[in-house]
Amino acid sequence: MKTAVVTGASRGIGKALAEMLCKNGFAVALIYKSSGEKADALKTELLKSGFVAECYKADVSKSDEVNAVFEKIQKELGTVSVLINNAGISSQSVFTDITDEMWSEMLGVNLTGVFTCCRAALPDMIKNHSGVIINIASMWGEVGSSCEVHYSAAKAGVIGLTKALAKEVGVSGIRVNAVSPGVIKTDMLSSFSENDLEELRNETPLMRLGTPEDVANAVEFLISEKASFITGQVLSVNGGFVI
Ligand code: NAP
Repeated sequence: MKTAVVTGASRGIGKALAEMLCKNGFAVALIYKSSGEKADALKTELLKSGFVAECYKADVSKSDEVNAVFEKIQKELGTVSVLINNAGISSQSVFTDITDEMWSEMLGVNLTGVFTCCRAALPDMIKNHSGVIINIASMWGEVGSSCEVHYSAAKAGVIGLTKALAKEVGVSGIRVNAVSPGVIKTDMLSSFSENDLEELRNETPLMRLGTPEDVANAVEFLISEKASFITGQVLSVNGGFVI
C-alpha cells in the first residue's frame, strides 16, 4: 500500500483530499495543527470504512515539527509517495495595515510550509525515483487580490516554487504540480456574508461556488498515471472566475 500525506487535513479541502486518497488505495497521513478533534473524527470515519489513516500534529511553518512528523510517518505508514501541500490561512487587510507579524505568518504557513514539507518528503522520493507533489495554490496567486496582498504573494510564491521544483526533480522521476482553486465553500469563507457569497457566485461564469470535492477531483487526476506526462503546471479549479 502506498502512503500519501495531506497537510491541513482536519477540515475543508484537506478532508476531501484525504477521503479521495483513501478511496484510491493510499494509507493517508492526516497532518493538522489545531483541530485535533476534527482530525480524529475524520480518522475514525475512514477506519470504519476499512481505510488506513493516521493523524499527525505539526505546524507546517516550523521545519523541526515537520521533519519530526515525516520521520514518524515513514516509520508508521511507510515511505511517502504522494505529498499534498494543502494547509493554508487567509486574511483580508489593507496593504498598509499589514504588520510584520501578519506578513510572516501568512508567508510562513502558505509558502514556507510548502518548502518544509517538500524538503522532508523529497529524499525518499529521489531515492525511489518516484513521487508526486501537489501544491494547493489560489487564483489570487495567479492574478492578485486587492486587500489580500500577503495571501496573493504567498500563493504566487507557491506557483513559482512548483514550477522551479518540477524542473529540478523531473530527472528523478518526480512530478510537481499546483491546483489553483477559486472560491470554495469551506471555513476559509466564514468571514464572508451571504451577500458577499452571492456576489462571488454571480461573478463566477459557472454560477456556483466550488466544493472541496471539485478540488479533490482535479488532484485525483494529477496524481494518477493519466497525468504521467504533466509536471510544473497550474490546474485552475475556479468555475471560470479567472480565465
Ligand atoms: P480551511 O477550511 O480554513 O482549512 C485550513 C486547513 O489548514 C486546516 O486543516 C488547518 O488545520 C490547516 N492549517 C492552517 N494552518 C496550519 C499550519 N500552520 N500547520 C498545519 N496546518 C495548518 O481552508 P480550506 O478552504 O480547506 O483551504 C485549503 C487550502 O486551499 C489552503 O491552502 C487555501 O489557501 C486554499 N484555497 C482555498 C480557497 C477557498 O475558497 N476555500 C480558495 C483558494 C485556495 P487546523 O484546523 O488543525 O489548524
